[in-house]
Amino acid sequence: MAQDWAKPFYNSKKWIKCRELYKQEKNGLCERCLKRGIYNPGEEVHHKIWLTPQNINDPEITLSFCNLELLCASCHTYEHVGKLSPVREGLMFNEIGELVEVYPPIQES
Ligand SMILES: [Zn+2]
Ligand SMILES: [Zn+2]
Repeated sequence: MAQDWAKPFYNSKKWIKCRELYKQEKNGLCERCLKRGIYNPGEEVHHKIWLTPQNINDPEITLSFCNLELLCASCHTYEHVGKLSPVREGLMFNEIGELVEVYPPIQES
């Protein structure tokens, strides 16, 4: 399940720096919850255009703020589970496609 092609990117200094700058720009809050008036800490910087082996070396996709979204665990789960079902409740994909347990379980919005 782990996507080996994505790991060097996620471990790169460029990405870690970009991710931190983006989090700061969004004041560390989940963008989707904020739209509903909820202040939830953002945990994952999500790529709106999902990363693939074809675009992993394209900084316009991987490092452009236009393609990033700061999400809490629930919103991030929803984003990925909605597109990669089925996944049991309480499990989510992290940003490199690994299944991880998540608490609390996904909230219906
Ligand atoms: Zn959220
Ligand atoms: Zn994501």
